[in-house]
Amino acid sequence: MTPSNCGRVQIRCSNASAGSSQLPNKERSLSSRRAYEIALISGDGIGPEISEAAVAVLEATGVPIRWHEVLAGEAARQRHGHPLPEATLEEIRRTTVALKGPLLAPKQTGRLTIRRGNGEVTYPSVNNALRRELGVFANVRPIRSFPGVPSPFPALDVVIVREVTEDTYIGWEEMKGPDEAWAIKRITRQASERIFRFAFEYARSHRRRKITAGHKANVLNLTDGLFLQCGRDAAAEFPDLPFDDCMIDALCLRLVKQPETLDVLVLPNQYGDILTDLCAGIAGSVGLAPGANIGDRVAFFEASHGAAPDIAGQGIANPIALILSGAMLLGHLGETTAERRIWETVALVLEEGRCLTPDLGGQARTADITRAIAAALR
Ligand code: NAD
Repeated sequence: MTPSNCGRVQIRCSNASAGSSQLPNKERSLSSRRAYEIALISGDGIGPEISEAAVAVLEATGVPIRWHEVLAGEAARQRHGHPLPEATLEEIRRTTVALKGPLLAPKQTGRLTIRRGNGEVTYPSVNNALRRELGVFANVRPIRSFPGVPSPFPALDVVIVREVTEDTYIGWEEMKGPDEAWAIKRITRQASERIFRFAFEYARSHRRRKITAGHKANVLNLTDGLFLQCGRDAAAEFPDLPFDDCMIDALCLRLVKQPETLDVLVLPNQYGDILTDLCAGIAGSVGLAPGANIGDRVAFFEASHGAAPDIAGQGIANPIALILSGAMLLGHLGETTAERRIWETVALVLEEGRCLTPDLGGQARTADITRAIAAALR
């Protein structure tokens, strides 16, 4: 497939059963099923391009979906004067599931305040605010290398389970005079126990091999020490799964030396953020790293990478991370066959190597690889 023979893929925000009279039998029975209600945030930068791609691929699976587009980020700021309007949060709470494109979080000035009753809460960034307002606590990022994608470490296959409610990302920072700034690192037993239990249960249900806790408890004796202790306590409840721990610096070394010795990595917020990009780079591109944000009631699914403003609007962004995030969304809804088919089709298209975007060493455009994946799914 070449850039010249690709067409635009249109996002359809319509009832999935519309037009079913023209569909063949199999598709008609699929489309007569009740459509899943899913909120959609297109996002900033490359967000609209890759969201369009992910929607097209999810629809190609035949799973009936009714999309509810809501605004966040720059689009919301322009329309409503706030990057995270209450109406957006309400709609995601209603649907309980969302697909989200990346949102810009400006350096040093990304703080935002959300009103709650008579009070207000300030968050360090719009992405942080979205996670915490929606009550998600586990950020799950399966990252693997794919045949056909150049990578020095073809054996990489890890899942990062990142705690996202606390650590330094709570945004409790303060100037202590003009030349000194403090940030608080908050680790609680409750949140740490919850993330480890989640990780062990995830590992069991996804047939993963082992759990490794990442920390720096030799320096941060109390905060990372508590996190590690909670990991050890949880491990005692799951004797069927091997557990070990690794200092965060040594873990980085292990990732590039012996990635095959690692499987599920459980990390506090900031280390999890940093190690994601390291793993994605090892796999071949940030464009390959999907993610889920899971809470007790709400879950939303987004690529691990950001809004990539440097390539926005050029039609060359790699949509795979968001497509795979969409696959995880379908799995979350119980559509595990569709989830598996998307992963297999992505792997197949990458291995064929005819449709690689520039970050993967090819010349294909976002629409090329989207059409190749969607066509193979239909
Ligand atoms: P980034 O991930 O957006 O980009 C880093 C590099 O990777 C850039 O060179 C970019 O072109 C490239 N890249 C990223 N995604 C790609 C894709 N799908 N295909 C091809 N190349 C891709 O990181 P950044 O530059 O640090 O952040 C840009 C903005 O995104 C910032 O405002 C940041 O705060 C925000 N951000 C948002 C999220 C989120 O929404 N969850 C996550 C991270 C960063």
